[in-house]
Amino acid sequence: MRSYSEAWQLGLKAVAIYHDGSKRSAPLNTRKTTYMGVICSHCGSDKVIRAGACSVCTQCGISLGCS
Ligand SMILES: [Zn+2]
Repeated sequence: MRSYSEAWQLGLKAVAIYHDGSKRSAPLNTRKTTYMGVICSHCGSDKVIRAGACSVCTQCGISLGCS
């Protein structure tokens, strides 16, 4: 009985991990990163994205200002 229960629980965990993983990877694959074409004044990187009302450099993480 005990080993059966353990195997059943392991199966549940495997299923949960599978669903969790597919859920997490799907948006990452479909999401497009749109750079604003702005050069970061802090590190000079052009990897500046729009985060809400703010411009954020993904290279150094600095906020380049909010509107
Ligand atoms: Zn930067």
